[in-house]
Amino acid sequence: MPQAMRNTNAATPPGDRTAHIAHVGIAVQSLAAILPFFRDVLGMPEVPMSDSDGARIAAVQSGESLIELLEPATPDSPIGKYVARRGPGIHHICVAVQDIEDALVRCRAAGIQLIDDQPRLGAEGKRIAFLHPKSTGGVLIELSE
Ligand code: ZN
Repeated sequence: MPQAMRNTNAATPPGDRTAHIAHVGIAVQSLAAILPFFRDVLGMPEVPMSDSDGARIAAVQSGESLIELLEPATPDSPIGKYVARRGPGIHHICVAVQDIEDALVRCRAAGIQLIDDQPRLGAEGKRIAFLHPKSTGGVLIELSE
């Protein structure tokens, strides 16, 4: 590729112009205790979700995004350790990108510390990768394709 073309690409804004919040992950002690609040009190429809990463997951729809409630399946799972250390609360924000490889390349170039060097399969069967909160304003960010 000619040098001029590479420079043009580098100056082009990131390709993920439609990047948006896919879901907000909330660590909970008990799905049974909190799911009725989101589903029945607030009226957000429940979305079927399979368990992942040692967490039992329930989700509700919020516009184009989901709120995922993450209950530890075991105390030594990542969510189990999180809840034990910090209590329940917002655990991560997942940003949907068009091309996760490209997004990871841009993150690396920007000096963002990656937790997952390569995409892996996440809860919704989508390719995901986590970014370290040290690099992202103290918020654990998940990228999802
Ligand atoms: Zn997530």
